Amino acid sequence: MANPYLVPVAHLVRRAPAHLDVAFEAPFDAAHEFAPRGPAESDVEAEAGVRVSLRLESFSGGLRARGRIEAPWHGICRRCSVPVSGVLSVGVDERFLAERVAGDEETYPLGEDEVDLAPLVHDAILLELPLAPLCRDDCQGLCPLCGIDRNEASCDCVAPLDPRWAMLDALRFDESPGE
Ligand SMILES: [Zn+2]
Ligand SMILES: [Zn+2]
Repeated sequence: MANPYLVPVAHLVRRAPAHLDVAFEAPFDAAHEFAPRGPAESDVEAEAGVRVSLRLESFSGGLRARGRIEAPWHGICRRCSVPVSGVLSVGVDERFLAERVAGDEETYPLGEDEVDLAPLVHDAILLELPLAPLCRDDCQGLCPLCGIDRNEASCDCVAPLDPRWAMLDALRFDESPGE
């Protein structure tokens, strides 16, 4: 199966400046190159469909890629742990260079006849995933004592007193006046 992230660009680069609009939907990580993230982190399923819509503009020695990338993500609410999901939409504007200096982290490599858009797509998505999502802005979370979901029910738990205050209470009791 052809890799949709590989776009032939020999013609585009030879005729610089020129442009090519590309739009496709492809699995986020069909080759399973990326390890799944931790259970508490937001993630995109390897097979999830990513929508890529970019304009590739050639210049002498490279390509500029501008446009939008959309991907469905899932995670868990940081307060109450229910599953949450959404669609991430990221604007990108990056450069691919035929000759890069070692250690260049600002650009992506441009192949001779084709450009591989996969690294750009992965980076854009992974950098923008919500780090600590909420199921809703005013999620009440779980009671730390009994674990009840405060969005659905209430409990009578009283936070334990600070042990230092508990000691003062005891002292006061022992020295009660009127003896
Ligand atoms: Zn929640
Ligand atoms: Zn409780």
